[in-house]
Amino acid sequence: MTIYDHMTTQDHSAVAPALSFSADSEPALALEAHHITKSFAGSRKRSLPVLNDVSLRVKQGEFVSIIGPSGSGKSTLFHIIGGLEKPDHGEIRMNGQLVTGEKGRISYMPQQPALLPWRTIEQNVVLALEVAGVRTKEAREEARLWLPKVGLAGFEQAYPHTLSGGMQQRASFLRALLSRQELMCLDEPFSALDALTRSDMQRWLLDIWESTKRSVLFITHNIEEALLLSDSIYVFSSRPASVLHKIEVPFARPRREDITTDAAFLSLKLELSQWMREEQRKMQNL
Ligand code: ADP
Ligand code: MG
Repeated sequence: MTIYDHMTTQDHSAVAPALSFSADSEPALALEAHHITKSFAGSRKRSLPVLNDVSLRVKQGEFVSIIGPSGSGKSTLFHIIGGLEKPDHGEIRMNGQLVTGEKGRISYMPQQPALLPWRTIEQNVVLALEVAGVRTKEAREEARLWLPKVGLAGFEQAYPHTLSGGMQQRASFLRALLSRQELMCLDEPFSALDALTRSDMQRWLLDIWESTKRSVLFITHNIEEALLLSDSIYVFSSRPASVLHKIEVPFARPRREDITTDAAFLSLKLELSQWMREEQRKMQNL
């Protein structure tokens, strides 16, 4: 049995975000980062510029990826969006509302699954609901509805260390999905997985996202992954990160399994690889 056998597309209403509309009845943007600039105190009292005038936007229900060299400032941008760090300049808006520096506005899935080892899978998954003040019984019912859909039926009472890396990632993803926040920020969630599990997880995420249409901001190193999953991709420069390019991904949804062998896919992949290689070279010279 594969993880897809557990997937259904019925009744995702529990996690469907409520659309909000601005005055001119255009849906407000799920996220706008405006001119974000950030430096840290580096070694020998020199300042380390990490983000340089970064602006990006995520529409409601859109899947947006960021690719850029390691150490360029991608996670720092997530920390700023999540209110863990304050930008030196610039602002963050969600649904049109100014939220710069405010915590608790996004659902966040870090690179490592970060499951609490003393809690069962079900207890880990309901954590975000508990924090949001949902009653225990209701939270547990929602988790029980979803766990089989992410291939974790029968593992409700298991502890995280008894599960494979891919299963832990799915539990961590479900915890983020069930949180009441509309925007999901996923920071290289599949980078620690082997190629086969990673490819399974990409397909799985695509199926879930296509049926729930949450707003997603996704960091990855992997160009093919970005092209497969996203509506648009921001290419970040070497540090300090700025937006070098934004591309709209032209492939129809739902994305076909064999899209990665299309001529248009391969030509975009080549173009992105060339940009990335150049930026990586610059990072090595920093
Ligand atoms: P990426 O996610 O693109 O790999 P990061 O945003 O994690 O990059 O880091 C960018 C740079 O900022 C790195 O050089 C890192 O060491 C530095 N950095 C990140 N957070 C801090 C911090 N809190 N204090 C000082 N330096 C930091
Ligand atoms: Mg990072």
